Amino acid sequence: MTDEEATAEGLTAEDAFGLLGNELRAEIMRVLGESPHEGLSFSELRTRVDEGVDSGQFNYHLQKLVGPFVENTDDGYVLRAPGLALYRAIRSGAFNRRVTVEPFDAGFDCYFCSTPVEASYDDGSFRLVCPGCDHLFASTMLPPSAVSEADETELLARVDQYNRHQMLVASRGVCPICVNPMELEFVPSEEVWSEGSERLDVFVHWGCDHCGRQQYMTVGLALLYHPALISFFYEHGVDLTSVNHWELEFVLSDEHTTVRSRDPWEVAVAVTLEGLTLELVVDEELNVIETNRY
Ligand SMILES: [Zn+2]
Ligand SMILES: [Zn+2]
Repeated sequence: MTDEEATAEGLTAEDAFGLLGNELRAEIMRVLGESPHEGLSFSELRTRVDEGVDSGQFNYHLQKLVGPFVENTDDGYVLRAPGLALYRAIRSGAFNRRVTVEPFDAGFDCYFCSTPVEASYDDGSFRLVCPGCDHLFASTMLPPSAVSEADETELLARVDQYNRHQMLVASRGVCPICVNPMELEFVPSEEVWSEGSERLDVFVHWGCDHCGRQQYMTVGLALLYHPALISFFYEHGVDLTSVNHWELEFVLSDEHTTVRSRDPWEVAVAVTLEGLTLELVVDEELNVIETNRY
């Protein structure tokens, strides 16, 4: 196989990272990534990377990247899609920075003990934890670029959007990582091993056979984008698509969830606003089979 025919798909992860283990090659990727839609000629690329480097040596390293990550087009050298994805991952700091954000007030009280919940970030993981009873409300992997220089309120709003969209795509049966189908299963809380899971009654579990992604969520969270729920909130002046989802009790606790049957599963979630209640009942495939207002 020549370099021209090599593809990123044909590389092992070790090969791919190995290719970037050289400073000059990493710099070529950076320069091409900075102007993803502009083809660069050999000499222009070399000038931007390092004018002082020997042309033969430069070409040797450039050709290692052509195929897997870089394409030599009629307009010049450009990053291929896998190269651009890698460039963006590196830019996000996922591989090369450790950032910590000390715990700060997340803006809502624990649904189990009423202590103000704290948000924090360390080593790639954003967490919402109650300091009163240690309940873990959320744990999300985020790149360091998400939190550096962030205003706390604004950071919470961004994490909410990111989180809920990851959950939404999973709740529609699509893996947020590899975009394969996910399998749905209702799991009683006693079968879920995680801190505080016993405080809920039932979880919706999504699993991806392809990449191994596992996702647990409450029935309330799985229903977050149901049109009846969105319009119910809208009628009460609340945009359900932009309120931080951890501020919604029906999303993070099972206080308003009733398991009607376990075989087959039938679960009701009731939400009350200004004295009016909307109740959604789902079957074991998460289809809403009943909508009640009272
Ligand atoms: Zn608590
Ligand atoms: Zn997957």
